[in-house]
Amino acid sequence: MDLAIVGAGTMGAGIAQIAVQHGLSVALHDAVPEGLERGVARVYDGLGRLLERRRITASEHDAALARLSIASSLTELASAPFVIEAVPEDLGLKHILFKNLDAVCAPSAILASNTSSISVTRIAAAARSPERVVGMHFFNPVYALKLVEVVAGHLTSNETLAAVEALATRLGKTPVRAKDTPGFIVNRVARPFYGEALRILAEGVPVETIDRVMRAGGGFPMGPFELMDLIGIDVNFAVTKSVYDAFFGEPRYRPHPIQDRMVAAGTLGKKTGRGFYRYDEAGAKIGEDDAQR
Ligand code: NAD
Repeated sequence: MDLAIVGAGTMGAGIAQIAVQHGLSVALHDAVPEGLERGVARVYDGLGRLLERRRITASEHDAALARLSIASSLTELASAPFVIEAVPEDLGLKHILFKNLDAVCAPSAILASNTSSISVTRIAAAARSPERVVGMHFFNPVYALKLVEVVAGHLTSNETLAAVEALATRLGKTPVRAKDTPGFIVNRVARPFYGEALRILAEGVPVETIDRVMRAGGGFPMGPFELMDLIGIDVNFAVTKSVYDAFFGEPRYRPHPIQDRMVAAGTLGKKTGRGFYRYDEAGAKIGEDDAQR
């Protein structure tokens, strides 16, 4: 096994797909059996689409799938030289996981987190050997976006950073070093993009108008609401809260009650078929959602 991935959701499955495509043998683990099934199905779907579009050959497709295995427990990851964690954005959850990974994996194994905003130094504090803990932040959708932020925690070693950069390059990505500050580079710059859009929505401007203006006038490939739906309202809300808290309540990063209500209602975006927009079974956008905001 070359790589273990823990958390088989949007990001874990996306990372697993590109890793098997690039020749790595990958073990995928999720604490929830249905989550693991969904993650494996996502990898199959992703590779199937590439085959349909003739971006890969049938033999490349089959070889990539053959490199994917599932691990039903963490102990099955003991021999992994490299682990990427992609569980929900919750420090408590990540702490428990890194403590367990630190105990289960070989001392030479590198333990990377795909966290969007949580301090890598704080995550690493759960491990007895924080020098091997690092941030390896991929972007969604993983197959399309080239950037990987490589985040050094306070005690991360240079060898660990070099290994992460080498892995990112092997996966066809462009690694960029970022400081262990809340939101790193991209998510910090992006917070006001979502926050202001939510405030404009609350003032009565329709979702579709704001997205259209940001695409047409702002030059963004997606509007803020399309992007929040893609990311997941719950994930985006958790990241905003985390950056806001980490900057001791800086008003620029303040979360919006609309996000809170949407999470409570379970309209989490594309993954639930309903967010700011509605989506059909195939994930195609149908139109703006008509919930009371
Ligand atoms: P997700 O909710 O789609 O998937 C998380 C998965 O982790 C689920 O399948 C869940 O069952 C599993 N899980 C929960 N607890 C677990 C545990 N203790 N052990 C193993 N598996 C566990 O989340 P996601 O969107 O893939 O986000 C994962 C991480 O990646 C978060 O830290 C998030 O901030 C970050 N991230 C997300 C995006 C995005 O656009 N969604 C982009 C970049 C980074």
